[in-house]
Amino acid sequence: MTDDLTMTADDTTTTAAPVVAVVGRPNVGKSTLVNRLIGRRQAVVEDTPGVTRDRIAYDAIWNGRRFTVVDTGGWEPDAEGRAAAIAAQAEVAISTADVIILVIDAQVGATDADEAAVRILHRTRKPVILVANKVDDTRAESDAAVLWSLGLGEPYPVSALHGRGSGDLLDIIQDRLPELPSADGDIESGPRRVALVGRPNVGKSSLLNRLAGEDRVVVDSVAGTTVDPVDSLIELDDEDWRFVDTAGLRKRVKQASGTEFYASLRTQAAVEAAEVAVVLLDAAEPISEQDQRVLSQVVEAGRALVIAFNKWDLVDDDRRHYLTREIERELRRITWAPRVNVSALTGRAVAKLAPALRTALAGWEQRIPTGELNQWISGLIQARPHPIRGGKAPKVLFMTQAGIRPPKFVLFTSGQLDPQYIRFIERRLREDFGFTGSPISITVKARE
Ligand code: GDP
Ligand code: GDP
Repeated sequence: MTDDLTMTADDTTTTAAPVVAVVGRPNVGKSTLVNRLIGRRQAVVEDTPGVTRDRIAYDAIWNGRRFTVVDTGGWEPDAEGRAAAIAAQAEVAISTADVIILVIDAQVGATDADEAAVRILHRTRKPVILVANKVDDTRAESDAAVLWSLGLGEPYPVSALHGRGSGDLLDIIQDRLPELPSADGDIESGPRRVALVGRPNVGKSSLLNRLAGEDRVVVDSVAGTTVDPVDSLIELDDEDWRFVDTAGLRKRVKQASGTEFYASLRTQAAVEAAEVAVVLLDAAEPISEQDQRVLSQVVEAGRALVIAFNKWDLVDDDRRHYLTREIERELRRITWAPRVNVSALTGRAVAKLAPALRTALAGWEQRIPTGELNQWISGLIQARPHPIRGGKAPKVLFMTQAGIRPPKFVLFTSGQLDPQYIRFIERRLREDFGFTGSPISITVKARE
C-alpha cells in the first residue's frame, strides 16, 4: 500500500520522476542491464549497509525523458525454496515502481522462481516488460520466444552484455512510462520574473522607483480607471528583471481602506506570476501577522524568496538588537531565505538585491543526481538511524529528486517516517546542499 505524507501544502500535485524497477533472480543480468540502460554514465553507488543495500537507484535519460532506474539486486528463494522472499521483493517493486522490468536468463529459461515472480506480477495493473536476457545472437532468439508462455506478453530479447536490443528496450520503456509530469513547470525564457510584495506602506513603490532609477510621477487613482497588470522591466546588475504586476505600484494607486482582501489577491497573483518574490518588511516596525501572511503566500506558492528589510535608515542600535531577536522568533521557519537590509529612501544596499535574487533562483533550480542523493541519505541514516517504533525502524529504500522550481524530493520507505525525522532530513539536505532561498518539499511513499 502506498501512502503519501505531504510536507508542504502546495505539494499535492507533485509527480515523482517515473521509477522503473528491474527485478529478477540473481545472475540473470540485472546489473548489466541497468548499466546498459543508464549508459554507464554514473559510477556505481557504493554498497553502504543499512539503507540502499539491495536497492540502488540511478538517473536515466532517453530521448530527453528522465526516469529513475532501480536495481533491485536479486531475490533468493529461501532455504526450502519457497516464494516468500520473492514475494517480498516483487511487492516492493510493484508498490514503488511505475514500470517493472522482469529479467529472465533466456539461456537458462524460466525457473520455478521466475514463475513465482510472474504469478505476483500478474496481479499488478502496472506495466510489466518481460526481458529475455543473454540473447547474444540471432540463433538465441528462439530461447526468448519460448517465454511467451509466461503470459506476460511479448518477451523482448536483449543482450545486456553486448548491447543488442537495448535501444529498442529503451523505446519500449519510454512508451510505458506514465504521462509526462509537469513537476518542473513551464520554463519561460526572457528576464527572470520578480514579485515585489509586502503589506501597505513598507515601501514597495519607493523601492521600485529607486530600482528603476527615476522618480516616477505620483498619480492618484482615478475612480473608474482600470489598472491593467503591467510589469516593469528593470535592469539591475547588468541583467534585465521583470517586476511583475507593478502597475499599481508605479502609479501609486492607493488602496482604499477595507480592501486588504483585494490587496492579498493582488499579492497572490503577483507571486503566482513570478519565479522569485522579494518580501519587503519594515525594519522599523515589529514583524506583524500581515507580514507573516505575505511570507506564507510565497512559501505556499513554492516560489523562491528574498526577504528585504526596508527603512534601514531608521534602524538604530536598540532597534537592531530587538530586530535580531524578532527574526529568530518570527522567521524561524524560513531561515533559508536570503536577507538584505535596504533603504529605498537613501539607496542603501539596494545593489545587494540582484545577487540575492540570483542566489534564491539558483537554490530554486538546484538538482541533485539520484546516485549522489542515495549515497548521501545512506550515510545520513547510518549516522543517525530512524528511532525504533514498535520493535523496528522503517527502512529508507531510496530517495529521488522529483522536480525543481522548487526542489521536490520523494523518499521510498518500508514504513512511515516520524515527521520529526523528515524535518531532520530536510535540515541536513539544506546544510549539505544549500537550496538557499527556496522552499523544498519531501514526500514519503511508504509501503506499509
Ligand atoms: P544480476 O545478479 O542479475 O545483477 O546479474 P549481473 O548483471 O551481475 O550478471 C550476471 C552474469 O551474467 C555476469 O557474469 C554477466 O557478465 C553475465 N551477463 C549479463 N548479461 C549478459 C548477456 O547479455 N549475455 C551474456 N552472455 N552474459 C551476460
Ligand atoms: P508601499 O505602500 O509599500 O508602496 O509604500 P510606499 O513606497 O508608498 O512608502 C510608504 C512610506 O514609507 C512613504 O512615506 C515612504 O516615503 C516611506 N519610505 C519608503 N521607504 C523608506 C525608507 O527606506 N526609509 C524611510 N525612512 N522611509 C521610507
